[in-house]
Amino acid sequence: MQSLAVLGSTGSIGTQTLDVVAANRDKFKVCALAAYRNDQLLEEQIKVFSPAIAVLMDKNAADRLARRYRGSTRILSGEEGLLEAATYEQAQTIVTALVGFAGVAPTLAAVDAGKNIALANKETLVAAGELVTEAARKKSVRILPIDSEHSALLQCLQGEKIQSVKRLILTASGGPFRGRTVDQLKNVTIEDCLRHPNWSMGKKITVDSATLANKGLEVIEAKWLYGMDYSQIDVVVHPQSIIHSMVEFIDGAIMAQMGMPDMRLPIQYALTYPERIDAQFSTLDFNKISALTFEAPDLVAFPALKYAYHAGRVGGTLPCVFNAANEVAVDAFLQGKIGYLAISELISEAVYHHEVILHPTLTDLNDADDWARNYIREVLKSEKIFV
Ligand code: NDP
Repeated sequence: MQSLAVLGSTGSIGTQTLDVVAANRDKFKVCALAAYRNDQLLEEQIKVFSPAIAVLMDKNAADRLARRYRGSTRILSGEEGLLEAATYEQAQTIVTALVGFAGVAPTLAAVDAGKNIALANKETLVAAGELVTEAARKKSVRILPIDSEHSALLQCLQGEKIQSVKRLILTASGGPFRGRTVDQLKNVTIEDCLRHPNWSMGKKITVDSATLANKGLEVIEAKWLYGMDYSQIDVVVHPQSIIHSMVEFIDGAIMAQMGMPDMRLPIQYALTYPERIDAQFSTLDFNKISALTFEAPDLVAFPALKYAYHAGRVGGTLPCVFNAANEVAVDAFLQGKIGYLAISELISEAVYHHEVILHPTLTDLNDADDWARNYIREVLKSEKIFV
């Protein structure tokens, strides 16, 4: 029986992780749950999964829950609570499914405590890839990807030598605006952005998918997970989201992993790796697929992907800045303060104005994250027009 702590349990990945647990009660149990402020859903999850501890980052939300809750689960709050969940003694695997840079500290703490990581929070590897992978190596801790593309790569790499790999090919759906020109992207709305053609996900990653910043984050994530050079990581747009990613080997053979767009499969694989277990997810019916198509990403209409490659190649604190700028810009977009095109514009402002520190410490990364957030806020206050 594997004991799990689920950080970000009330989100899209968190709830699907708990679906996998509920379907496999003989294999998994939950000892810790953590969320930001959704006390109602967390309370329901406590009733179903009876964790030893449950955390809400937001102290008011935690107080609300503690006042009405009468069970044996300990209710904790704030950063200390989150770190306690990330390092909880009985937890063997920590599912990191919270959003953004907030995932870095708990993931590092979990790795230091020797926990295996089932990683959905890609921003952690983007911002702190060198630190996290080095800490994991020292502690002999496994970081297993939940992201469907990286899970696909892991599945294609089984039984293969990493030296036999020529390149990794990440597939991208292209998001809701695939095929549009910059001109046609000027007036897209928040609602347009949140209408992803194939996947139902949290708001931040859905916007990231619409700008291709998500694919940029995934390129950097792939670099750290598989130790590849950026020249060996390609992106191809595959609108059907049936092939979740591919590996090309030095002899020209290409392995692809296919399946329905359903995150429960990569979540389950990260939890059972290297074993596979039964699942009731719907499977592909090839009689219903008329075509699998591929095209190159449009880096003029979706330049965020280009900026991510640049940030990754330069390295040091720059991917952290890419990530922070994107987080602030997406937040501003979702609040209706800026238009869609401004997201990529703001990322480029931060990425091309940052003084990079190579081989950063955690303090350097926290500083770079702060710098980028403040820089973008200042740019937004300035006269520049971001529509
Ligand atoms: P959601 O927005 O749906 O959920 C986020 C979760 O994190 C919620 O439980 C939320 O709590 C919690 N949370 C948010 N901010 C904080 C914080 N500062 N501290 C602690 N907890 C916090 O996100 P997703 O599930 O879509 O995404 C989670 C991660 O997984 C992201 O990194 C994303 O890129 C990645 N991912 C997601 C996929 C998907 O299909 N959704 C696919 C692949 C990767 P509350 O509900 O209380 O606000």
